Amino acid sequence: MVLRSTSLAALVLLAACVAPGDDAPSARPAPLASEAVLAAAEQAPLQRGNLEWNRPFEPFTVIGNIHYVGMDGIGAYLITTPDGHILLDGGFAQSAPAIIANIERLGFDIADVRYLLNSHAHHDHAAGLARLQRASGAQMIASAPDWPALEAGRFPFGPSEAVRFPPVRVDRVIADGETVALGGVALTAHITPGHTPGCTSWSMDVAGADGARHRAFFHCSATVAGQSLIPPAYPTIVADFQSTFARVREIDADVLLTNHPGFMDMHARRARQIAGDADAFVDPEALDAFNDRLERAFHAELARQSATQR
Ligand SMILES: [Zn+2]
Repeated sequence: MVLRSTSLAALVLLAACVAPGDDAPSARPAPLASEAVLAAAEQAPLQRGNLEWNRPFEPFTVIGNIHYVGMDGIGAYLITTPDGHILLDGGFAQSAPAIIANIERLGFDIADVRYLLNSHAHHDHAAGLARLQRASGAQMIASAPDWPALEAGRFPFGPSEAVRFPPVRVDRVIADGETVALGGVALTAHITPGHTPGCTSWSMDVAGADGARHRAFFHCSATVAGQSLIPPAYPTIVADFQSTFARVREIDADVLLTNHPGFMDMHARRARQIAGDADAFVDPEALDAFNDRLERAFHAELARQSATQR
């Protein structure tokens, strides 16, 4: 954990020794995006595909204190506690006003969000964070490899490298195995790199409608998503994907939550929930099945890219 320094001496020391790329937020807090920048980003037209992902979706309680407040095809999760809330992911810039409205529709208030988390710094999950930070005053927490992209408002490689989004100020860098604790909830960070170098999955205990304790896993994603494996988009990308698949296989969780709802069959599970199945999102097989599917897709893509290189 690296907190922003509070003393002048520490600031001077940080300024002297923190070079770009070091795993600490810059010594001087990055300014918040202006209202004009946010408004322009929110009004910009979305491309086809992204437009469909950004269709509204009725917010709902997934299980216990975990609520879905995202869009039809882009996830955002509110974890509520008596001491304030945690919000995971911001969608597109164009999603943020709807996420705020969804939080209100469930009877909660964006101003009570204490921590903002991010699965990874691609614009479809990060571009809305600046608005959410401005609206909540929450502390933004991100992994060391992904925070520079969040503060730059641009992910530096891959299909979305030309996309600019409102920069968000990162207040705290989180490392693998560290937790964010609030109001009796402890969210553990799992750095699961590959999709991005700092792709961060999160896990927490949650009480189900059946009264039992369940383990929820917010999967960062491990799709190749049009990125180059050969030559590598970043030096350790292939090894990172492979270690992530091995790692996720060891994780025990029975509630899979993904940042693209299709990956967890959200629409079908939500329909079952509405029909009376209160634990429609409890599924001990879902995480392993998803991990296997991602791993097969990764190896197929690696073979394809390897063949086109020969
Ligand atoms: Zn992504």
